[in-house]
Amino acid sequence: MQTQMKIPIIEMDGDEMTRILWDSVKEKLILPFVDLKTEYFDLGVQERDRTNNEVSVRAAEALMEHGVGVKCPTITPTPERVKEYGLANDVVSPNRIVRSKMGGMLFRMPICIPAIDPLVPNWKSPITIVRYVYGDVYRGVEMLADKGDVCEIVLRKANGDVLSKNVHEFCETGGMVQAVHNTDAGIEAFARCAMGFAVEMKQDLWFGAKDTVSKVYDRRFFEIFDEVYHSEFVVRFESEGIAYHRMLIDDAVSRALRSGGGFVWACKSYDGDVFSDMVATGFGSIAMMSSSVVSPSGQVLYEAAHGTVQQHYYRHMRGESVSTNPIGLIYAWSGALRKRGQLDGLGGLCGFADALERAVAETVEDGVMTADLFQRSVSENKREASSFDFILEVAERLARRAIL
Ligand code: NAP
Ligand code: MG
Repeated sequence: MQTQMKIPIIEMDGDEMTRILWDSVKEKLILPFVDLKTEYFDLGVQERDRTNNEVSVRAAEALMEHGVGVKCPTITPTPERVKEYGLANDVVSPNRIVRSKMGGMLFRMPICIPAIDPLVPNWKSPITIVRYVYGDVYRGVEMLADKGDVCEIVLRKANGDVLSKNVHEFCETGGMVQAVHNTDAGIEAFARCAMGFAVEMKQDLWFGAKDTVSKVYDRRFFEIFDEVYHSEFVVRFESEGIAYHRMLIDDAVSRALRSGGGFVWACKSYDGDVFSDMVATGFGSIAMMSSSVVSPSGQVLYEAAHGTVQQHYYRHMRGESVSTNPIGLIYAWSGALRKRGQLDGLGGLCGFADALERAVAETVEDGVMTADLFQRSVSENKREASSFDFILEVAERLARRAIL
């Protein structure tokens, strides 16, 4: 398909099993059908090490310039990984570099296919998690304390006043301390983004925090959400017939499990990190989750929600057949292509993204699926496929659609 793409999609390659599948998805499902234009950055751990993280910074800058990116999962090195790959530099997570440059919200939405029943049987429609990826423990300052140490927190006010509070006196034993922060402007942008998305989806918005315990920090989140809702969204919510529900986070978890799904769940960063895995698993598999980061100025990065699937990679390298599910990776590509198409008025590109997703659903509906779905499917004609066979089966169906 001649797409007339003028502005490139920023392509960020990754590591291990997902790097191998990335190649195969591109070769079999994208390049034969689309006249693709990308600006390629290799965010594989060795290239990040060789460039001392510069490649991640350049990729983030290119994304901010061109607006749409697609990213393969990458290794966040631990001491074991540094040894395994013989890394010389402090190779930090590119997600951290890219997300902090974007300063955005993370959206996680399950990919629901009728042939796969959710693990939580009452979940009939997707639950989208909107995670605010700034601050809290992810920007925390931490220290170890020894027995006898005293910890205080000090706030130097702009007017010269100094406020301080005692945190803890470590009289009996040592321990640790942590200081976290967030900003009014960031939370306001988060509230506006989540509420705008709920209106777009025509679904209720939930937001949970723990203001019974955190009477200043978490309460501030609620206050700002209330302000944004009452000053900007009440009328739009009412005209769509949707509601904003604020609740304690533990109540939100219990209600979410009992619900039928079909709502937008705004989460503080840590809650979103944890509950997005729960929601993905509850709908079927971590591989069946699409993920995107959206910046306040509209740049979007599409990813899969899972990691590099390390253990499958080792099996693949030993020559064994693996059945890693590539659907999350395929949806990262379809999301990026559709967005580029929408921004540049390229209807053909949007149509291709839809056709690709339909070809994936049709393949699973026909009973062809990877091991994770095979274990869960109740389909009578199901057959377990390797990753590469699955991609070929999708390609066959996509080619039929492209011809029609
Ligand atoms: P993972 O790669 O998500 O894999 C954890 C387990 O989940 C796998 O062993 C597999 O379970 C299952 N799984 C995940 N994706 C799957 C798929 N597509 N198809 C089938 N099963 C799938 O998480 P991890 O093992 O904790 O992390 C591995 C590496 O990924 C780490 O270096 C971590 O830093 C990195 N990571 C990167 C990102 C990112 O770049 N966005 C996110 C998370 C983790 P079974 O073994 O039971 O089949
Ligand atoms: Mg998580």
